[in-house]
Amino acid sequence: MKVGIIGTGYVGLPTGVGLAELGHDVVCIDAVEEKIAALKAGKITLFEEGLEELFHKNAASGKLRFTSDMKEGVQNADVVILAVGTPPHPVTKEADMRYVHAAARELALHLTGYTVVANKSTVPVGTGDAVEKIIREVNPAADFDVVSLPEFLREGFAVHDFFNPDRIIVGANTEKAANVIKALYAPFGEKAHMLFVKRRSSETIKYASNAFLAMKIHYINEMANFCEKSGADVYEVAQGMGLDTRIGAKFLNPGPGYGGSCFPKDTNAMAYMAKGYGVEMSLIETTIRKNDARKVEMAERILKATEGIENPKIAVLGLAFKGGTDDCRESPAMEIIAALLKHKVSITAYDPKAMDTAKKLVGDQIEYAADAYEAAKGADVLAVLTEWVDFKSLDLAKIKAALKSPKIVDLRNLLDKSEAEQQGFDYQGIGR
Ligand code: NAD
Repeated sequence: MKVGIIGTGYVGLPTGVGLAELGHDVVCIDAVEEKIAALKAGKITLFEEGLEELFHKNAASGKLRFTSDMKEGVQNADVVILAVGTPPHPVTKEADMRYVHAAARELALHLTGYTVVANKSTVPVGTGDAVEKIIREVNPAADFDVVSLPEFLREGFAVHDFFNPDRIIVGANTEKAANVIKALYAPFGEKAHMLFVKRRSSETIKYASNAFLAMKIHYINEMANFCEKSGADVYEVAQGMGLDTRIGAKFLNPGPGYGGSCFPKDTNAMAYMAKGYGVEMSLIETTIRKNDARKVEMAERILKATEGIENPKIAVLGLAFKGGTDDCRESPAMEIIAALLKHKVSITAYDPKAMDTAKKLVGDQIEYAADAYEAAKGADVLAVLTEWVDFKSLDLAKIKAALKSPKIVDLRNLLDKSEAEQQGFDYQGIGR
């Protein structure tokens, strides 16, 4: 099938690469010309495990092409996928729909034959109707259907998740459109786990899922606070809870609060939408408020470890919002750094993949090190803020020799607590 994908970011690029690998003819479209120029020149524009190899393979075979020309990407396509950003409005926190609406207007003129416009961006309920209306207004003669096709990939596992989807939710209002999406994923065979629902249900499923996961994280973080006071170990508690299949073991890892480009914006967008319908979402509202507060509390923990030291030097390990990605959008690490910078401190940070993206956000307000040991050099405390596996195998003796005082605040419980204590560190984790 011929597929056009509008938006070549963390969703659009892995989706394009994945669909090309499944055998489709894919054209990835992006408004940012430098991005397209880089991709055309064979330079991948974001980090995802396993993506680069498949990107080169499919670009070389001609199955995967790139353009900034909407017409080139959309004409003759059987399916046009919208994967543009829906960032939070800076004041209301509702989903900002300007990119989706603009893309709908731009693609409308170039539709040829029957086309399914599939919306992968995370969008408020009713967006399918709005996109349909825009396309109809711009091009009354167009033959098309709009479906909701929400994306559930986890950054850091995007390639794995594309090829091993837990579920593919399709919100199609016509059988014809549903059949086109079935054909798109037909190469998966039984693995596809497709669920066909009303378009508005599909749009809701995405927000309902992310808000639920965010609440689960908030829940275990509050349990971690309780364990710290009560003498229990949150890992043992989570393990015991997770054995109950009704609860499930996943998303019970305590940490500095959730972040990233999805959970904060999607919980806020869900709460905003519910308000519009006059529906109370007390659990989601509380989760948002407490999760925001948690970043500041985490910064205070780090500052406490440097109490009495004038202008302390803090070594930060990890800037990305989680391990396995270079994405720093709403990263807890970045928010903790922002809270720390309100005090007289100096920070030297290291991240295996996210130094460049972080630099765009905090610039020279902090220093950047070439590795964890350089970051630790002369620091009064080492703070672990992102769960990169690389940090698990740090040589703690070398870290101790680099630090001014052997203190670790491990907000991801990544390092081996007993080994750190044996080495003479004052080690503080979460919830134990
Ligand atoms: P992103 O910012 O990484 O990428 C969006 C891309 O769209 C950018 O490259 C931008 O230049 C391009 N774009 C915007 N307007 C355009 C236009 N009119 N024409 C062509 N290109 C245009 O965003 P993302 O992280 O890939 O997220 C995209 C959507 O998917 C969002 O709604 C997000 O909530 C949702 N989502 C993201 C994830 C994730 O893990 N990142 C997971 C599931 C769902």
